[in-house]
Amino acid sequence: MTNVHSLPESPEFTPFWRHVAERRLCFPMCRSCGRRHWYPLPRCPHCLAADIDWEPVGPDGTLFSWTAVNHAFTPEFAGKVPYTVGLIAFAGAPGVRLITEVRAPPACALRIDMPVRAVFTGRTGAEGLHFVPAIT
Ligand SMILES: [Zn+2]
Repeated sequence: MTNVHSLPESPEFTPFWRHVAERRLCFPMCRSCGRRHWYPLPRCPHCLAADIDWEPVGPDGTLFSWTAVNHAFTPEFAGKVPYTVGLIAFAGAPGVRLITEVRAPPACALRIDMPVRAVFTGRTGAEGLHFVPAIT
């Protein structure tokens, strides 16, 4: 079973969603080599250590890429299309690229490396997080 916006509902993601519910972004970081990774894994993909912790990053990122979703592949999405799914990169978290919804006004043209900012809605799961273009 998948959660809305494509992140699987699995135990490895539970800390991520708990942090989102607390209105912050946290990603796995290896205490052994100090590198981050995404998706969550029981061992560091860089050094294979099992000493993983969740470390926060700020709400600001950049738009690495995006796509428009115009077709509801499951009935749950029928009322949601069209929507935009973005791949968000974070300066403070090299190697992490988060797949998430991006909401932008129709007149706002998305572009590669556009500054974006996390919006926490207080809802549970993926409905608790999306990104918007940052005002710069
Ligand atoms: Zn490591």
